[in-house]
Amino acid sequence: VPKLKIENLHVNVEGKEILKGVNLEINGGEVHAIMGPNGTGKSTLASALMGHPKYEVTSGSVTLDGEDVLEMEVDERARKGLFLAMQYPSEISGVTNSDFLRTAINAKRGEGNEISLMKFIRKMDEKMAMLNMDESFAHRYLNEGFSGGEKKRNEILQMMMLEPRIAILDEIDSGLDIDALKVVAKGVNSMLGPNLGVLIITHYQRLLNYIKPDFVHVFMQGRIVKSGGPELAERLEAEGYDWIKEELGIED
Ligand code: ADP
Ligand code: MG
Ligand code: MG
Repeated sequence: VPKLKIENLHVNVEGKEILKGVNLEINGGEVHAIMGPNGTGKSTLASALMGHPKYEVTSGSVTLDGEDVLEMEVDERARKGLFLAMQYPSEISGVTNSDFLRTAINAKRGEGNEISLMKFIRKMDEKMAMLNMDESFAHRYLNEGFSGGEKKRNEILQMMMLEPRIAILDEIDSGLDIDALKVVAKGVNSMLGPNLGVLIITHYQRLLNYIKPDFVHVFMQGRIVKSGGPELAERLEAEGYDWIKEELGIED
């Protein structure tokens, strides 16, 4: 069972401290949600965990199954089972979706253990069908000309194909209409189980009606300031964040 442990994580972006002591533990079988106002560092946390070079860890630790994640190269993190569905996925011209995915899967499986083309195609067809994605998406260049909603579905397709151990989903619900939201949630829910821990980053409680979190964390000013169960998300939806600021004496 996977275990991701983040302790007192501090991260600078361009010399400015954005994360100011994040503590969070995610175990296999758990769904965690991070909610918080814009610009408080939620995506920074996701990028820092994946090893984006712009995000400089100044102190703290991150371990996956006891291994030091911060010492790992970006591709090694992916091989160990960390996955990020990005808030703003990039377009890669000249690389088809299917080529990208097969390369990523085989990089993870390692030399001599590549997935057969038949198995790959069958798996991709099955997952795309579950996400209501047209077959043509397999052969289109990665995210090029995809609508916002199509990009989000494609991020979930990547997750379903790569079968990560810890998945971070950064605003996977933004820009989705209710039908697309349900499809995306169905894909995520089909993956849930003891071998997967999920971190959902979202602005809105809506997604959490479809993917049930076990834990909800409020993120403000570069750290988790409050944690609770699903009822916390409902209160945030109804009342906003002001009551938390008052409760904690936070000024903005
Ligand atoms: P959130 O995801 O909570 O909306 P972000 O993590 O995207 O917040 O941003 C937090 C702060 O860090 C913002 O002030 C943002 O401008 C800054 N920041 C994040 N990433 C970068 C970057 N790549 N370059 C410059 N500033 C950044
Ligand atoms: Mg934002
Ligand atoms: Mg963000």
